[in-house]
Amino acid sequence: MALRLKILKQLPKFLTEFPEVCKQDKKEELEIDPALLWTENDQLDIEYVKEITWAEPGEAAGFEMLRTYLLERLQYYGTSSYDPSKKHQSFLSPWIHFGQISTQRIALEVVKLKNLWKEQCERFLNEAIIRKEISDNFCLYNPNYDNFEGAEQWAKSSLDLHRTDKRNFIYTPEQFEKALTHDPIWNSAQIQLVTEGKLHGYMRMYWCKKMLEWTESPEKAIEIGLYLNDKYSIDGSDPNGFVGVMWSVCGVHDQGFKERPVFGKIRFMVDYSISKKYDLKTYCSRYRPTANSEEKTGFEKKTVDELSENELKDQSKESDKLKDHEEINKKKPAKRNNTKKEGGVQSGRKKRKV
Ligand SMILES: Cc1cc2nc3c(=O)[nH]c(=O)nc-3n(C[C@H](O)[C@H](O)[C@H](O)COP(=O)(O)OP(=O)(O)OC[C@H]3O[C@@H](n4cnc5c(N)ncnc54)[C@H](O)[C@@H]3O)c2cc1C
Repeated sequence: MALRLKILKQLPKFLTEFPEVCKQDKKEELEIDPALLWTENDQLDIEYVKEITWAEPGEAAGFEMLRTYLLERLQYYGTSSYDPSKKHQSFLSPWIHFGQISTQRIALEVVKLKNLWKEQCERFLNEAIIRKEISDNFCLYNPNYDNFEGAEQWAKSSLDLHRTDKRNFIYTPEQFEKALTHDPIWNSAQIQLVTEGKLHGYMRMYWCKKMLEWTESPEKAIEIGLYLNDKYSIDGSDPNGFVGVMWSVCGVHDQGFKERPVFGKIRFMVDYSISKKYDLKTYCSRYRPTANSEEKTGFEKKTVDELSENELKDQSKESDKLKDHEEINKKKPAKRNNTKKEGGVQSGRKKRKV
């Protein structure tokens, strides 16, 4: 919270127009050692994932996404933008991540619309500036930003107490990767991640928290969460991603909740409660496994309608309360490599070992 206030105080100084670019007189000569140049024969340890077509690389495409966001979707920010079946987020993270559009430019344009949609603009600026700065700050100053040791003591102690709790399901990284869990909602999220290279913000939380529930330890959950996020997400390998996974698995920038098995005091999320709030039928039908993928991987063909009572029953107070990070903010402050290719963005990154 203290950091949030500090950031807000700095906005008048930093949320300003960019200065004019000046011509540089001084010429620097670069000395390049030819032996260090990359050639086609060099082998990179990169596993490429499927190219995505909805996001064109480059500054112009980033500005076009910003333009459509301001005109068509900003008005829904903080309401239906939380619904995974609606495409009401800004979708700007790929361009922000690759430095093709700056948060400063986006924020300056959003501020201009405050008279029209005050609350929506404030919510957006809160995510785009405050949460992003808090994530950058965490990764800059915490050497354990991507592992269990980076969590706060209350969270570590609580998760430690529940290490030996019985898990109802334990999946291997491969089962997660191929969307082979018993939960059709989780599988749909994984299918969205793999096919679109970006998961809806709300589903990101659910997706990652379930990995804590269905792996043998929080360490494993962080490892698999980061592996899948960074491999398939076009905006992956980003401070927001490290903090997103750490928030989901070990309560970074969150508070403690009622103690329960496996999760300890970490905030819990259940399919039942998100199915009640949002149109997950549409979401799951959009990201159903294809006939082919079922043959190959054994994807279950269950929809939300087909879920059993038991599967739908497990309710939790904190999950019901969880609207989005917006709620968290009120309480407490928290690769794809982009290779230009015709018609889309190709991604690939060094494989993390899981
Ligand atoms: C498990 C998990 C993994 C995540 N992985 C990533 C990741 O790899 N890369 C990434 O950029 N974000 C990540 N996030 C944070 C957030 O979900 C995304 O920033 C957001 O969904 C990006 O889509 P958007 O630009 O359409 O979002 P919008 O909701 O339109 O937000 C606009 C911008 O605000 C910032 N922002 C929004 N939510 C957050 C947040 N919770 N924390 C920090 N900044 C935020 C981002 O810069 C985002 O582009 C992750 C969250 C979780 C829970």
